[in-house]
Amino acid sequence: MFDCIIVGAGPAGATAAYHLSRRGRSVLLLEKAALPRYKPCGGGVSPQVAQWFDFDFEPVISQKVTRVRYSYKMQDIVETDLGTAEPIWMVRRDEFDHYLVKQAQRQGTTLQDETKATGIAFERDRWQVQTSREPVQGRYLIAADGARGPVARWLGFRNRVMTQGGAVETEPRLPVMEGHIAHFEFGLLKNGYVWNFPKADGYSIGSGVFRLSKRKSRDLVQPMADYAAQFQVDVSMTQQHGHPLCLWNGDQVLHSQNALLVGEAASVVDPFTAEGIRPSIFSGLKAAAAIDGAIAGDPNALEGYTQTMAAELGSDLRWAGRLAKAFYAAPGLGYRVGIKSPKGTALMAQVLCGELPYSAVVQRALRRLSGGLLTR
Ligand SMILES: Cc1cc2nc3c(=O)[nH]c(=O)nc-3n(C[C@H](O)[C@H](O)[C@H](O)COP(=O)(O)OP(=O)(O)OC[C@H]3O[C@@H](n4cnc5c(N)ncnc54)[C@H](O)[C@@H]3O)c2cc1C
Repeated sequence: MFDCIIVGAGPAGATAAYHLSRRGRSVLLLEKAALPRYKPCGGGVSPQVAQWFDFDFEPVISQKVTRVRYSYKMQDIVETDLGTAEPIWMVRRDEFDHYLVKQAQRQGTTLQDETKATGIAFERDRWQVQTSREPVQGRYLIAADGARGPVARWLGFRNRVMTQGGAVETEPRLPVMEGHIAHFEFGLLKNGYVWNFPKADGYSIGSGVFRLSKRKSRDLVQPMADYAAQFQVDVSMTQQHGHPLCLWNGDQVLHSQNALLVGEAASVVDPFTAEGIRPSIFSGLKAAAAIDGAIAGDPNALEGYTQTMAAELGSDLRWAGRLAKAFYAAPGLGYRVGIKSPKGTALMAQVLCGELPYSAVVQRALRRLSGGLLTR
């Protein structure tokens, strides 16, 4: 029997595995895919995550971005330096996630990939997890199975608080020009943006919406195709992958009997930028501390995880939610008074790098947006 079974070997699950194993707890990490596995993702990662680990990420940083280039409806182009102490990392998710898993294995985590969790039951003092192979047992369970995973539902979390979004991505391999520049286009999609993030050997090009309409489906592929053409990429010749996004939309209970939700299973994605890797890693870090505390006998440790996530992540993402609401309601205005201002970019980059909390910049941004509305 393991101290903890973690379902899902993305950034959230691998981080929880790493930190629990490091604390001497026995961990089984279940992953349905064969590792390394592809995950549709831009692969933009905040360098802040380095401070939560004691190993070097350099082997899996494909590019480092120091500048951004924005456009609105493919016009009105502006380019500016990020101006942060550290550049933003660009990673390939198959490499990045597998690297994290290997670090966890080095600390003692047992990995079973190509093993799908198919059901769970709590019996007396432990979880029985049915899998596509043998059943397994653990005292604690972490749901780290991402936006599409079933474990939160199995645990009884039927109406999780979240905004449902979606994105489509393609990763053409070709020689990269200006690998230090990330590209964003804000006018081709309602409630979202189109991106082109450089990698050492190609790009991640994609489009995402951060609020799905219940009434009409959205064409994410055409905006991505139109934008990609600028970079001499014909997306009809590349593989495209769609994926849902579970965006933060309020604090919620993230624990139940001997179990925690982490990462996108806990809807931690930033509702303004759709950044999910850093918050997923953060949740994995905090979940490991909580389960370690519970094993050590603290009866309030799991509830403490819910509270920590609200106090340390929710308090910040609340501001991101306010900004998303104001910006995506009037993106043309937001582009003119917010994005195009070098100060705006510098502040957002500092938020992305963990140098500033959202609260420090959103009030300014909202003032500028309402000032812009008055002068329009
Ligand atoms: C197109 C797109 C672009 C994005 N771009 C960025 C970006 O540039 N930067 C950023 O920070 N965020 C980005 N995100 C968000 C980010 O990818 C996610 O928030 C992040 O991957 C969530 O991590 P996770 O560990 O919670 O889940 P995941 O990374 O989704 O991992 C979950 C794992 O669980 C496994 N699993 C699922 N069900 C089972 C089961 N039953 N049994 C066993 N294993 C199972 C899956 O195979 C998967 O490996 C993007 C998202 C999308 C869709």
